[in-house]
Amino acid sequence: MNLTKSRLDQGRLTKFRLGRLKVPLVTPFKTALRSVDHVDDVVVELELDNGMIGYGSAPATAVITGDTHASIMAAIRDFIWPAILGKHIRDLNDICQLIDKAMIHNSSAKAAVEIAIYDLWSQSLGLPLYQALGGGISQLHTDITISVNHPDEMVSDAIKAVDLGYDTLKLKVGKDLQLDIDRIGAVAKAVGPDIRLRLDANQGWSAKQCIQAISAMNRAGIEFELIEQPVAADDISGLKHCTEQLHTPVMADETAFSFAQSLHLMQNQGCDIINIKLMKAGGISKALHIADAATAFRMPCMMGCMLESSIGVAAAAHVAASRHQVITKIDLDSPSLCQFNPVAGSVEFHDAAISLNQSPGLGIESIQSLTYL
Ligand code: MG
Repeated sequence: MNLTKSRLDQGRLTKFRLGRLKVPLVTPFKTALRSVDHVDDVVVELELDNGMIGYGSAPATAVITGDTHASIMAAIRDFIWPAILGKHIRDLNDICQLIDKAMIHNSSAKAAVEIAIYDLWSQSLGLPLYQALGGGISQLHTDITISVNHPDEMVSDAIKAVDLGYDTLKLKVGKDLQLDIDRIGAVAKAVGPDIRLRLDANQGWSAKQCIQAISAMNRAGIEFELIEQPVAADDISGLKHCTEQLHTPVMADETAFSFAQSLHLMQNQGCDIINIKLMKAGGISKALHIADAATAFRMPCMMGCMLESSIGVAAAAHVAASRHQVITKIDLDSPSLCQFNPVAGSVEFHDAAISLNQSPGLGIESIQSLTYL
């Protein structure tokens, strides 16, 4: 009797370890905000008292989330882990609330821990994460980012991507308006009308500049699937103005940081599409809240990622797969930009194709190049 009871009671959070995972990129990643040449994540490993291990990760995207490696590690070690130590993994929703309430901000640290928690929870159920979240599709199709560079270099990168089988390109712009128009025109001409183009200005334009640039390119016969975050993150009225003035769908990224901000945009028709990222939302539970609210508001979403390792992106892929009815666009190209995938057994990233398997949880068997701290 006591033995049965103790076995049933097993599944409590008992240990945590932190590590760093660095993976070099094929070519440097350049946006209006930064230039990076490798992925560098904090990895969190959580263990239950039955020996089960779950993994999560977070990049230090200080210019976007405000989070650094040091702040992510301190948040987990000093606030988040003490709040959930000893909790039973079956109490998923309570654990997510404890993570959220452990401190304000620190969305990347919260996301890393939540990813490990959902990995453990779905492993405990014996289901791949997307099945535990209600089921869905097991194949996704991502675009690829073309960094902001000289037009000739962007054309050559775009042609290489099309040759690899990508049919959707996300062009980074927002550094210089006239040069942006030249860059986009050159790429559009080189790849032809069968390739879908997404633009991401990373807050680099004003609303007027955005309307001027997109209208000029439309007049030149270039159409876009969407324009992402043309204006500053706090320029909510500017984003809405672009949404109202352009026939090209406008997507919120940096303006749609939290669930509350995303909900505000939906309620006020402040954009046409929301870009969901686990690192902005603060984890899987909040990303699901955004997707489910968007379902109610009939607003499509994209699942995006930071420049981050395939642990966090695998989690994002599972969330997107389970909410594919509303998350209709996928921008999970970070693993494909890396020189190798350090994670074995989990989601497979092969150029545009993302394949989920039937292993329980995230399916992570081993992580190469992981240094424990
Ligand atoms: Mg973006």
